[in-house]
Amino acid sequence: MSSHRKSVAALTGLIVTATLAGAYLLGRSDERAGRSFALTRPAHAAESPAISPVDARARDFYAPNSEDLRPDEMRLIACGTGMPTARPKQAASCWLLELGNGDKFIFDIGTGSAERIAAMQIPYNFLDKVFLSHLHTDHFGDLDALFVGGALAGRQKPLRVWGPSGDTPERGTKYALDHLYKALTWDLDGRAGITDPRGYQPFDVTEFDYHGVNEIVYQENGVTIRSIPAIHSLDGPVSFILEWEGMKFVFGGDTYPNKWFAEHAKDADLAIHECFIAVPDMIDKFQFTPQSALAVGTQIHTSPEAFGKMMSIIEPRMAVAYHFFKDFDTTGAISEGIRSTYDGPLSLSEDYMVWNITKDDIRVRMAIVDEDVWPPPATGKPQLPDPSLRIPYSDAIAGGRYDMKSVIQPTYDQINEKYGLDEKQE
Ligand SMILES: [Zn+2]
Ligand SMILES: [Zn+2]
Repeated sequence: MSSHRKSVAALTGLIVTATLAGAYLLGRSDERAGRSFALTRPAHAAESPAISPVDARARDFYAPNSEDLRPDEMRLIACGTGMPTARPKQAASCWLLELGNGDKFIFDIGTGSAERIAAMQIPYNFLDKVFLSHLHTDHFGDLDALFVGGALAGRQKPLRVWGPSGDTPERGTKYALDHLYKALTWDLDGRAGITDPRGYQPFDVTEFDYHGVNEIVYQENGVTIRSIPAIHSLDGPVSFILEWEGMKFVFGGDTYPNKWFAEHAKDADLAIHECFIAVPDMIDKFQFTPQSALAVGTQIHTSPEAFGKMMSIIEPRMAVAYHFFKDFDTTGAISEGIRSTYDGPLSLSEDYMVWNITKDDIRVRMAIVDEDVWPPPATGKPQLPDPSLRIPYSDAIAGGRYDMKSVIQPTYDQINEKYGLDEKQE
């Protein structure tokens, strides 16, 4: 019974489809074209094209790595905007800035952000410059992922990292990265002699004095990056100011509102500044005690009201707020807080937000990402590894190999034939 009903329904559907198509394409012999279909007005039906117009308007999203920049254009992509507890919707602080001269810079690489960078489909040879605002893991926790994953996927050179000193050598960027590299000893030893070694060389670290006020920390290819101190947790954190082609981009790391930002971020074309979750939401949703919510949300970090006040002082062409979970029930309090002290252009950022910046215009869109993305091809020729560098298994472990030669051999045969090789199993 039920299958009979289904087939009738299916048949009816077919008939309706056929009738619609017929009426649409060919008109009807009784001259009632369009009239029987409530969804289409007769006049409209007569003018409509035969095939739905796929390019009737420009799409308002960014498809990663699909648009060249103009020589005087910047593109900023939010690859992490949230909190130390990274979540599917928001990784922690990470900002990818691309310039029309081909340069690309990563500002912070917080927990969970490496996969957002991967989603941008940029060859890893171009992702070799990272600037760290400070050494909280929500600002550099995915550096190891970019370091190893990037080398594996085509970064054929050392990863360059700029970051501040600390009030002791142990609290500086150099110490952190030397020890991160040591922590990767097993990982890196296991790759020796198997893959292109160039990307796995130790971090190329430039540690600069965190006290510097608007001091140059980078100057290449027409791009100047300066640092200013920030006030957050301990001595050491900084913010960055990048200038290129007469434009000014400011990346503010975590901080209590400070005088250096007020002075040197002034008139930025785009200024990013942290803006913490509103204190009541920190208590209700993040389970902070009222005391620590007040301390963390207003003294260690910048509250929404203070963010707005700072933006009213520096008057950027676009203000960008981050460092909050942007949900339907938290965004209102943040927006109201900011708007109580600032009425200028504002982006409440979330992951995959994209800004195209020129002197005349700032366009804000969202990127649409492919979750099944593969790394883009390497831009340089791979260097064959030296197999003699391979570290062998001990006899005790090597002796545990089960004999799988006969089932693996067809793969060798196939690849040897296809590529003209003579590779043999170990
Ligand atoms: Zn921090
Ligand atoms: Zn932070």
